[in-house]
Amino acid sequence: MSIKATIYKITCKDPEIKGCYVGSTKNFAVRKYLHKQTFNNPKSKEYNFKKNVFFRENGGFENFNMEVIRERVFNDKKEMREEEQLFINQLGANLNDKRAILTTEDIEADKIKNKGRRRIEWQKYYSKNKEKLTEKRKKWREDNREQHNEYNRLYREKNKEKRNEKISCEKCEKVLSRNSMSKHRRFYCEKISPVVN
Ligand SMILES: [Zn+2]
Repeated sequence: MSIKATIYKITCKDPEIKGCYVGSTKNFAVRKYLHKQTFNNPKSKEYNFKKNVFFRENGGFENFNMEVIRERVFNDKKEMREEEQLFINQLGANLNDKRAILTTEDIEADKIKNKGRRRIEWQKYYSKNKEKLTEKRKKWREDNREQHNEYNRLYREKNKEKRNEKISCEKCEKVLSRNSMSKHRRFYCEKISPVVN
């Protein structure tokens, strides 16, 4: 869906102060108002963003100019972000915390970070509520014993074929079912010295 948007830059009125922020918006006036409202508001989630720290340290938002760089209709949000990124690069916008367009690596890095954060949060929650959670799980198992057993039975059945499949040991080439192989490896083949060719 096409969008009419404005790409803008914010720079200090004092040319000696080198700082540049590039952004895009569908409503320039509203965005300007929001910049003004949030830069010095500790409750804003953007309070510690680079741009806002910089505005506060350099005379406040009043000491900055917000100017239109480009105003046009974009085919979609992606195209808008791409053009925004071009200006970020071109103007060396040093007050942008994040890139306008995320590269695949950025997205992957973000996912990993979030996964780690969620795990830590869960661990915290778990250690705080350990007893309650153990109790809950126990109760759930009791309430669902039948389904639980049925699930296990289905699981075993599904894997039966796989477990009975014949494979050969990489070390001694003995042919065994997949099911017996792990034991064989652990208790027989890995105990004897490695095969020397
Ligand atoms: Zn073997």
